[in-house]
Amino acid sequence: MLKVCKFGGTSMADGNVINGVKKIIESDASRKYVVVSAPGKRYSGDSKVTDLLYKCHSELTEKGNCKESFKAVRARFVSIVKELNIPFNIEAVLDETEKLIVSENSEDFIASRGEYLCARIVAEVLGAKFVDAYDVVFFKEDGSLDGAKSYKAISEAVSGANSAVIPGFYGKGTDGRVKTFSRGGSDISGAVVARAVNATVYENWTDVSGFLACDPRIVDSPVKIKCISYKELRELSYMGANVLHSDSIFPVRKANIPIKIKNTFNPADEGTSIVPSSRYVPSGNIVTGVAGKKNFTVIFIEKSHMNAEVGFICKVLTVLMDEGIPVEHIPTGTDTMSLVVDSGYLKKEKLEEIVSKIKTAVSPDTVRVLEDVALIATVGHGMSSSVGTSARLFNAIANANINIKMIDQGSSELNVIVGVNNDDYENCIRAIYYEFFR
Ligand code: ADP
Ligand code: ASP
Ligand code: MG
Repeated sequence: MLKVCKFGGTSMADGNVINGVKKIIESDASRKYVVVSAPGKRYSGDSKVTDLLYKCHSELTEKGNCKESFKAVRARFVSIVKELNIPFNIEAVLDETEKLIVSENSEDFIASRGEYLCARIVAEVLGAKFVDAYDVVFFKEDGSLDGAKSYKAISEAVSGANSAVIPGFYGKGTDGRVKTFSRGGSDISGAVVARAVNATVYENWTDVSGFLACDPRIVDSPVKIKCISYKELRELSYMGANVLHSDSIFPVRKANIPIKIKNTFNPADEGTSIVPSSRYVPSGNIVTGVAGKKNFTVIFIEKSHMNAEVGFICKVLTVLMDEGIPVEHIPTGTDTMSLVVDSGYLKKEKLEEIVSKIKTAVSPDTVRVLEDVALIATVGHGMSSSVGTSARLFNAIANANINIKMIDQGSSELNVIVGVNNDDYENCIRAIYYEFFR
């Protein structure tokens, strides 16, 4: 039995919690390799260290130094080491880090220092080897993870060590500089380490007792999912259930390594198992979970005989491809198609430019734009085999007086995605949850 444990930001929030983490690790000899995030919020209204570091980058860009913003980072780490009462010269490491922040002057390097500093401290607390992610996690030229190179380097770096601590969230780019994953990316780092050492299980320790059927900030105490397939997890986490980064499954899925979501603040709780479809144990529920994200833009395109025009969709998509804009969904009708795009990619002028280029490319009859759309995915293996699920879903949304702007059913029949106004987002999630879980 060999476990890789990733502890998230709230599990690193202060010295007290880190001592709790030490107990969890030491209570099971198979918990040998540990990946950590930067310290998160201690209480509501507190700042995550990573957010403080992004502020350092902004200050550095504006003023040429980040003295003011770095004070808050320094204070967090100094107080953690004080609470832990360990003989670790954190001030010296912080001085060196502050200097490097100025000389490196890169957003990714600065953001990565939360994980770096935290892992140095946790390695000290556990008496474990510190392995810098910079030396063992590699990205390819296109920015994606270089799995093969990383797995080899990690397994070599930890071989012979009884236990090791590795900072999450970052690695080395092909230019030799520190590069981070997207936000929440320590989950991916944990999966990469689990794959590298061929772990029996990848334990992801967080502040909730598992993957819940929906966001606990929207529904009070949603039911916990005991067992979820990689596929369902990918759909839910991609659609906003950010308890686990949606890219975390890729490294472990190939090696069939299960992921277990566990609660640092309630370690005895069983948690959620994320497993390959072959080991999936259905809960008996038609729906496994509901998740969503706000702020999408829908571009509706209408043209008579669109279907007969060879290459119509291709021409439209080429416009977005040329602008480097990814498309989330493409619902189509007989003479209509829609493009659903994350609004973050479409600032006002960009949107106008895209619409005008689409007009030039395919001469549509009309193009309409709908902004402030939230997408909500209802996910479950049970949905395809059970008659009337969509009817129940749409009825529940209608009964909550919510207007559906768009519908898309994934071809896997694992999910149905609806688009609603941003303002209806929370109510829509509640309506779907109560329909299928009460
Ligand atoms: P960590 O710092 O441990 O990585 P995150 O904040 O990234 O933790 O993820 C845990 C949080 O995800 C929970 O506190 C919860 O508010 C939120 N969350 C959103 N959707 C879900 C869900 N479906 N199940 C569990 N937690 C969820
Ligand atoms: N600390 C990083 C973030 O806040 C990575 C992580 O938490 O996984 O996004
Ligand atoms: Mg996280």
